[in-house]
Amino acid sequence: MYRKKLILTICGMLAAVLAGCGNAESGGQAEGLKEESRDIFAMDTYMTVTAYGPEAARAVEMAEEEIKRLDSLLSTGDTGSEVYKINEEKEGVMSSDTAYLVERALELYDSTDGAFDIAVYPVVKAWGFTDQNYRVPEPEEIEELLKHVDASQIGFDEANSRISLGEQMQIDLGGIAKGYTSARIMDIFRECQIESGLVNLGGNVQVIGSKPDQSLWRVAVKDPKDPEGYVGILSVKDRAVITSGAYERYFEQDGEVYHHIIDPDTGYPADSGLVSVTIVSADGTLADGLSTSLFIMGLDRASDYWREHKDEFDAVLMTREGELYVTEGLKDSFTSDYEVRVIES
Ligand code: AMP
Ligand code: MG
Repeated sequence: MYRKKLILTICGMLAAVLAGCGNAESGGQAEGLKEESRDIFAMDTYMTVTAYGPEAARAVEMAEEEIKRLDSLLSTGDTGSEVYKINEEKEGVMSSDTAYLVERALELYDSTDGAFDIAVYPVVKAWGFTDQNYRVPEPEEIEELLKHVDASQIGFDEANSRISLGEQMQIDLGGIAKGYTSARIMDIFRECQIESGLVNLGGNVQVIGSKPDQSLWRVAVKDPKDPEGYVGILSVKDRAVITSGAYERYFEQDGEVYHHIIDPDTGYPADSGLVSVTIVSADGTLADGLSTSLFIMGLDRASDYWREHKDEFDAVLMTREGELYVTEGLKDSFTSDYEVRVIES
Protein backbone atom coordinates (compact mmCIF):
# COMPACT_ATOMS: atom_id res chain seq x y z
CA MET A 1 0.00 0.00 0.00
CA TYR A 2 2.71 2.41 1.08
CA ARG A 3 4.82 1.41 -1.92
CA LYS A 4 1.97 1.89 -4.31
CA LYS A 5 1.36 5.37 -2.94
CA LEU A 6 5.05 6.24 -3.30
CA ILE A 7 5.10 5.12 -6.92
CA LEU A 8 1.99 7.15 -7.63
CA THR A 9 3.64 10.21 -6.07
CA ILE A 10 6.75 9.81 -8.18
CA CYS A 11 4.60 9.42 -11.30
CA GLY A 12 2.82 12.59 -10.29
CA MET A 13 6.11 14.46 -9.99
CA LEU A 14 7.23 13.24 -13.40
CA ALA A 15 3.94 14.37 -14.90
CA ALA A 16 4.54 17.80 -13.42
CA VAL A 17 7.97 18.10 -14.96
CA LEU A 18 7.11 16.60 -18.32
CA ALA A 19 3.66 17.91 -18.96
CA GLY A 20 3.28 20.92 -16.67
CA CYS A 21 -0.10 21.37 -15.11
CA GLY A 22 -2.18 21.36 -18.29
CA ASN A 23 -2.11 17.61 -18.77
CA ALA A 24 -1.51 16.58 -15.21
CA GLU A 25 -4.17 14.57 -13.49
CA SER A 26 -6.04 16.78 -11.09
CA GLY A 27 -6.15 15.89 -7.43
CA GLY A 28 -9.86 16.64 -7.68
CA GLN A 29 -12.07 19.03 -5.77
CA ALA A 30 -12.45 16.44 -3.03
CA GLU A 31 -9.03 17.49 -1.73
CA GLY A 32 -10.34 21.01 -1.16
CA LEU A 33 -8.62 24.36 -1.59
CA LYS A 34 -5.06 23.62 -0.60
CA GLU A 35 -2.75 26.56 0.08
CA GLU A 36 0.86 26.49 -1.02
CA SER A 37 3.23 29.39 -0.43
CA ARG A 38 6.95 29.81 -0.99
CA ASP A 39 9.54 32.54 -0.43
CA ILE A 40 12.15 32.89 -3.12
CA PHE A 41 15.13 35.22 -3.46
CA ALA A 42 15.75 36.13 -7.09
CA MET A 43 16.13 39.23 -9.30
CA ASP A 44 17.79 40.99 -6.33
CA THR A 45 14.59 40.85 -4.31
CA TYR A 46 12.50 38.76 -1.95
CA MET A 47 9.48 37.18 -3.58
CA THR A 48 6.49 35.18 -2.36
CA VAL A 49 4.33 32.95 -4.52
CA THR A 50 1.01 31.72 -3.10
CA ALA A 51 -1.60 29.53 -4.78
CA TYR A 52 -4.85 27.93 -3.65
CA GLY A 53 -6.31 24.84 -5.26
CA PRO A 54 -5.77 21.13 -5.80
CA GLU A 55 -2.71 21.81 -8.00
CA ALA A 56 -1.27 24.54 -5.76
CA ALA A 57 1.95 22.70 -4.88
CA ARG A 58 2.70 21.99 -8.50
CA ALA A 59 1.87 25.55 -9.55
CA VAL A 60 4.22 27.04 -6.95
CA GLU A 61 7.01 24.65 -7.94
CA MET A 62 6.60 25.61 -11.60
CA ALA A 63 6.47 29.30 -10.67
CA GLU A 64 9.80 29.05 -8.84
CA GLU A 65 11.41 27.33 -11.81
CA GLU A 66 10.05 30.03 -14.10
CA ILE A 67 11.37 32.85 -11.88
CA LYS A 68 14.83 31.29 -11.88
CA ARG A 69 14.76 30.69 -15.63
CA LEU A 70 13.76 34.29 -16.38
CA ASP A 71 16.29 35.66 -13.88
CA SER A 72 19.15 33.86 -15.58
CA LEU A 73 17.88 34.95 -19.01
CA LEU A 74 17.22 38.63 -18.34
CA SER A 75 19.78 39.69 -15.72
CA THR A 76 22.12 42.40 -17.02
CA GLY A 77 24.92 41.53 -14.59
CA ASP A 78 25.00 37.74 -14.89
CA THR A 79 27.74 36.93 -17.43
CA GLY A 80 25.80 33.84 -18.51
CA SER A 81 22.55 35.67 -19.30
CA GLU A 82 21.11 36.30 -22.73
CA VAL A 83 20.89 40.05 -22.14
CA TYR A 84 24.56 40.13 -21.06
CA LYS A 85 25.51 38.33 -24.29
CA ILE A 86 23.50 40.74 -26.43
CA ASN A 87 25.19 43.69 -24.70
CA GLU A 88 28.62 42.16 -25.36
CA GLU A 89 28.12 40.91 -28.90
CA LYS A 90 25.74 43.70 -30.02
CA GLU A 91 23.63 41.29 -32.03
CA GLY A 92 22.05 37.88 -31.93
CA VAL A 93 18.95 35.75 -32.17
CA MET A 94 16.81 36.09 -29.05
CA SER A 95 14.78 33.55 -27.12
CA SER A 96 11.02 34.08 -27.37
CA ASP A 97 10.87 35.67 -23.88
CA THR A 98 13.59 38.23 -24.61
CA ALA A 99 12.20 38.97 -28.08
CA TYR A 100 8.73 39.52 -26.59
CA LEU A 101 10.13 41.89 -23.95
CA VAL A 102 12.23 43.86 -26.44
CA GLU A 103 9.16 44.23 -28.65
CA ARG A 104 7.01 45.44 -25.73
CA ALA A 105 9.80 47.78 -24.62
CA LEU A 106 10.06 49.32 -28.10
CA GLU A 107 6.27 49.83 -28.19
CA LEU A 108 6.53 51.58 -24.83
CA TYR A 109 9.40 53.73 -26.08
CA ASP A 110 7.09 54.95 -28.87
CA SER A 111 3.96 55.41 -26.81
CA THR A 112 5.76 57.21 -23.95
CA ASP A 113 7.70 59.52 -26.29
CA GLY A 114 10.96 57.97 -25.18
CA ALA A 115 10.44 58.09 -21.40
CA PHE A 116 10.78 54.31 -21.33
CA ASP A 117 14.11 53.58 -23.01
CA ILE A 118 15.88 50.24 -22.49
CA ALA A 119 19.00 51.74 -24.13
CA VAL A 120 19.50 53.77 -20.93
CA TYR A 121 21.67 51.01 -19.44
CA PRO A 122 25.11 52.67 -19.91
CA VAL A 123 23.80 55.65 -17.89
CA VAL A 124 22.30 53.41 -15.17
CA LYS A 125 25.74 51.76 -14.97
CA ALA A 126 27.60 55.06 -14.79
CA TRP A 127 25.58 56.00 -11.69
CA GLY A 128 26.58 52.68 -10.12
CA PHE A 129 23.04 51.32 -9.78
CA THR A 130 24.10 48.00 -11.30
CA ASP A 131 26.82 47.11 -8.79
CA GLN A 132 26.15 49.53 -5.92
CA ASN A 133 29.39 51.41 -6.58
CA TYR A 134 27.34 54.60 -6.46
CA ARG A 135 28.79 57.81 -7.86
CA VAL A 136 27.62 61.05 -9.45
CA PRO A 137 29.03 61.09 -12.99
CA GLU A 138 30.49 64.29 -14.44
CA PRO A 139 28.06 66.19 -16.71
CA GLU A 140 30.43 65.62 -19.67
CA GLU A 141 30.34 61.86 -19.06
CA ILE A 142 26.53 61.85 -19.01
CA GLU A 143 26.40 63.98 -22.14
CA GLU A 144 28.70 61.54 -23.92
CA LEU A 145 26.72 58.47 -22.82
CA LEU A 146 23.38 60.04 -23.75
CA LYS A 147 24.44 60.15 -27.41
CA HIS A 148 23.81 56.40 -27.52
CA VAL A 149 20.66 56.28 -25.41
CA ASP A 150 18.03 55.94 -28.09
CA ALA A 151 15.92 52.80 -28.34
CA SER A 152 14.76 53.82 -31.83
CA GLN A 153 18.29 52.90 -32.96
CA ILE A 154 17.85 49.28 -31.84
CA GLY A 155 17.60 46.94 -34.82
CA PHE A 156 14.72 44.54 -34.19
CA ASP A 157 13.79 41.92 -36.77
CA GLU A 158 10.59 40.46 -35.41
CA ALA A 159 10.25 37.64 -37.95
CA ASN A 160 13.68 36.24 -37.06
CA SER A 161 13.82 37.42 -33.43
CA ARG A 162 17.08 39.20 -34.22
CA ILE A 163 18.40 42.19 -32.37
CA SER A 164 21.29 44.47 -33.25
CA LEU A 165 22.75 47.33 -31.23
CA GLY A 166 25.09 50.16 -32.14
CA GLU A 167 28.72 49.76 -30.97
CA GLN A 168 28.22 51.86 -27.83
CA MET A 169 24.70 50.64 -27.01
CA GLN A 170 23.57 48.36 -24.19
CA ILE A 171 20.08 47.39 -23.04
CA ASP A 172 18.44 46.85 -19.66
CA LEU A 173 15.07 45.11 -19.29
CA GLY A 174 15.00 45.81 -15.52
CA GLY A 175 12.11 48.26 -15.95
CA ILE A 176 9.73 45.52 -17.18
CA ALA A 177 11.27 42.16 -16.24
CA LYS A 178 9.46 41.76 -12.91
CA GLY A 179 6.08 42.59 -14.39
CA TYR A 180 6.66 40.06 -17.14
CA THR A 181 7.68 37.49 -14.55
CA SER A 182 4.49 37.99 -12.55
CA ALA A 183 2.45 37.78 -15.78
CA ARG A 184 4.15 34.47 -16.63
CA ILE A 185 3.31 33.15 -13.17
CA MET A 186 -0.35 33.98 -13.83
CA ASP A 187 -0.07 31.90 -17.05
CA ILE A 188 1.25 29.00 -14.98
CA PHE A 189 -1.54 29.47 -12.45
CA ARG A 190 -4.15 29.33 -15.22
CA GLU A 191 -2.51 26.22 -16.66
CA CYS A 192 -2.78 24.66 -13.19
CA GLN A 193 -6.43 25.72 -12.83
CA ILE A 194 -5.53 27.96 -9.91
CA GLU A 195 -8.45 30.30 -9.45
CA SER A 196 -7.00 32.13 -6.48
CA GLY A 197 -3.38 33.10 -5.99
CA LEU A 198 -0.82 35.86 -5.90
CA VAL A 199 2.79 36.68 -6.44
CA ASN A 200 4.64 39.42 -4.62
CA LEU A 201 7.93 40.33 -6.30
CA GLY A 202 9.52 42.76 -3.86
CA GLY A 203 6.36 44.81 -3.41
CA ASN A 204 5.11 44.37 -6.97
CA VAL A 205 2.01 42.23 -6.80
CA GLN A 206 -0.09 40.33 -9.31
CA VAL A 207 -3.17 38.35 -8.34
CA ILE A 208 -5.40 35.81 -10.03
CA GLY A 209 -9.07 35.73 -9.18
CA SER A 210 -10.13 36.90 -5.76
CA LYS A 211 -9.23 35.54 -2.32
CA PRO A 212 -10.33 31.97 -1.51
CA ASP A 213 -13.25 33.43 0.47
CA GLN A 214 -14.30 35.36 -2.67
CA SER A 215 -13.43 38.77 -1.22
CA LEU A 216 -11.10 41.06 -3.17
CA TRP A 217 -7.34 41.01 -2.63
CA ARG A 218 -6.14 44.01 -0.65
CA VAL A 219 -2.84 45.42 -1.83
CA ALA A 220 -1.13 48.18 0.14
CA VAL A 221 0.44 51.15 -1.64
CA LYS A 222 3.63 51.97 0.25
CA ASP A 223 4.30 55.36 1.75
CA PRO A 224 7.36 56.69 -0.14
CA LYS A 225 8.41 58.63 2.98
CA ASP A 226 8.15 55.54 5.19
CA PRO A 227 8.15 52.34 3.11
CA GLU A 228 7.29 50.36 6.24
CA GLY A 229 3.91 52.13 6.23
CA TYR A 230 1.34 52.66 3.50
CA VAL A 231 -0.76 55.50 2.08
CA GLY A 232 -3.75 53.43 1.01
CA ILE A 233 -5.16 50.06 0.03
CA LEU A 234 -6.24 48.85 -3.41
CA SER A 235 -8.96 46.19 -3.58
CA VAL A 236 -8.48 44.15 -6.74
CA LYS A 237 -9.00 40.89 -8.58
CA ASP A 238 -7.13 39.61 -11.66
CA ARG A 239 -4.74 42.54 -11.65
CA ALA A 240 -1.09 43.49 -11.44
CA VAL A 241 -0.30 46.27 -8.96
CA ILE A 242 3.19 47.53 -9.69
CA THR A 243 5.00 50.47 -8.14
CA SER A 244 8.02 52.55 -9.07
CA GLY A 245 9.35 54.66 -6.25
CA ALA A 246 12.33 56.88 -5.65
CA TYR A 247 12.74 55.06 -2.31
CA GLU A 248 13.34 51.65 -3.92
CA ARG A 249 16.99 52.11 -4.85
CA TYR A 250 18.94 55.27 -4.13
CA PHE A 251 22.04 56.77 -2.58
CA GLU A 252 22.85 60.07 -0.95
CA GLN A 253 25.79 62.29 -1.64
CA ASP A 254 26.43 65.80 -0.31
CA GLY A 255 22.87 66.02 0.95
CA GLU A 256 21.36 65.09 -2.44
CA VAL A 257 19.35 61.91 -3.02
CA TYR A 258 19.91 60.09 -6.32
CA HIS A 259 17.55 57.27 -7.30
CA HIS A 260 17.57 54.59 -10.00
CA ILE A 261 14.90 55.77 -12.44
CA ILE A 262 16.74 57.72 -15.09
CA ASP A 263 15.18 60.38 -17.30
CA PRO A 264 16.59 59.55 -20.76
CA ASP A 265 16.33 63.24 -21.72
CA THR A 266 18.76 64.37 -19.02
CA GLY A 267 20.69 61.26 -17.94
CA TYR A 268 19.89 62.20 -14.31
CA PRO A 269 17.45 60.54 -11.91
CA ALA A 270 13.97 61.66 -12.96
CA ASP A 271 12.98 64.84 -11.15
CA SER A 272 9.37 65.05 -12.25
CA GLY A 273 7.79 65.92 -8.91
CA LEU A 274 6.40 62.39 -8.47
CA VAL A 275 7.87 60.20 -5.73
CA SER A 276 5.78 57.10 -6.35
CA VAL A 277 3.66 55.69 -9.18
CA THR A 278 1.54 52.56 -8.84
CA ILE A 279 -0.03 51.04 -11.96
CA VAL A 280 -3.04 48.72 -11.84
CA SER A 281 -3.56 46.64 -14.97
CA ALA A 282 -4.52 43.16 -16.12
CA ASP A 283 -1.21 43.16 -18.05
CA GLY A 284 1.76 42.80 -15.67
CA THR A 285 4.39 43.67 -18.28
CA LEU A 286 2.56 46.85 -19.21
CA ALA A 287 2.04 47.78 -15.56
CA ASP A 288 5.76 47.51 -14.86
CA GLY A 289 6.81 49.45 -17.98
CA LEU A 290 4.30 52.18 -17.22
CA SER A 291 5.19 52.55 -13.54
CA THR A 292 8.71 53.49 -14.62
CA SER A 293 7.48 55.66 -17.52
CA LEU A 294 4.84 57.66 -15.66
CA PHE A 295 7.29 58.28 -12.81
CA ILE A 296 9.55 59.99 -15.35
CA MET A 297 6.70 61.88 -17.04
CA GLY A 298 5.41 63.67 -13.96
CA LEU A 299 1.81 64.35 -12.97
CA ASP A 300 0.56 66.32 -15.99
CA ARG A 301 2.10 64.19 -18.72
CA ALA A 302 1.16 61.02 -16.83
CA SER A 303 -2.46 62.18 -16.53
CA ASP A 304 -2.60 62.91 -20.27
CA TYR A 305 -1.05 59.53 -21.04
CA TRP A 306 -3.69 57.83 -18.90
CA ARG A 307 -6.47 59.73 -20.71
CA GLU A 308 -5.20 58.33 -24.00
CA HIS A 309 -4.79 54.77 -22.68
CA LYS A 310 -7.40 54.53 -19.94
CA ASP A 311 -8.75 51.19 -21.16
CA GLU A 312 -5.41 49.58 -20.42
CA PHE A 313 -4.58 50.69 -16.87
CA ASP A 314 -5.24 52.90 -13.85
CA ALA A 315 -2.75 54.60 -11.55
CA VAL A 316 -2.06 55.95 -8.07
CA LEU A 317 0.40 58.85 -8.11
CA MET A 318 2.07 60.65 -5.25
CA THR A 319 3.81 63.99 -5.50
CA ARG A 320 6.83 65.23 -3.57
CA GLU A 321 4.48 67.46 -1.58
CA GLY A 322 2.55 64.38 -0.47
CA GLU A 323 -0.52 64.93 -2.67
CA LEU A 324 -2.22 61.69 -3.61
CA TYR A 325 -3.94 61.23 -6.98
CA VAL A 326 -5.85 58.27 -8.46
CA THR A 327 -7.21 57.88 -11.95
CA GLU A 328 -10.97 57.66 -12.24
CA GLY A 329 -11.12 53.86 -12.54
CA LEU A 330 -9.75 53.47 -8.99
CA LYS A 331 -12.13 55.91 -7.37
CA ASP A 332 -13.99 53.14 -5.57
CA SER A 333 -11.22 50.57 -5.15
CA PHE A 334 -8.61 52.77 -3.44
CA THR A 335 -9.14 53.58 0.21
CA SER A 336 -6.92 55.95 2.14
CA ASP A 337 -6.86 58.02 5.31
CA TYR A 338 -5.43 60.88 3.26
CA GLU A 339 -7.17 63.25 0.91
CA VAL A 340 -7.37 61.62 -2.54
CA ARG A 341 -7.71 63.67 -5.72
CA VAL A 342 -9.26 62.00 -8.76
CA ILE A 343 -7.80 62.40 -12.25
CA GLU A 344 -10.79 62.47 -14.57
CA SER A 345 -10.98 61.62 -18.25
P1 AMP B 1 11.25 50.06 -11.97
O1 AMP B 1 11.68 49.70 -10.59
O2 AMP B 1 10.31 49.11 -12.61
O3 AMP B 1 10.79 51.47 -12.10
O4 AMP B 1 12.54 49.94 -12.89
C1 AMP B 1 13.69 50.66 -12.64
C2 AMP B 1 14.81 49.99 -13.38
O5 AMP B 1 14.60 50.16 -14.78
C3 AMP B 1 16.15 50.63 -13.11
O6 AMP B 1 16.80 49.98 -12.04
C4 AMP B 1 16.88 50.43 -14.41
O7 AMP B 1 17.40 49.12 -14.47
C5 AMP B 1 15.79 50.55 -15.44
N1 AMP B 1 15.54 51.92 -15.92
C6 AMP B 1 15.92 53.10 -15.33
N2 AMP B 1 15.50 54.15 -16.07
C7 AMP B 1 14.83 53.61 -17.13
C8 AMP B 1 14.16 54.20 -18.26
N3 AMP B 1 14.07 55.51 -18.44
N4 AMP B 1 13.59 53.35 -19.16
C9 AMP B 1 13.66 52.01 -18.99
N5 AMP B 1 14.27 51.41 -17.97
C10 AMP B 1 14.85 52.20 -17.04
MG1 MG C 1 8.79 49.30 -13.96
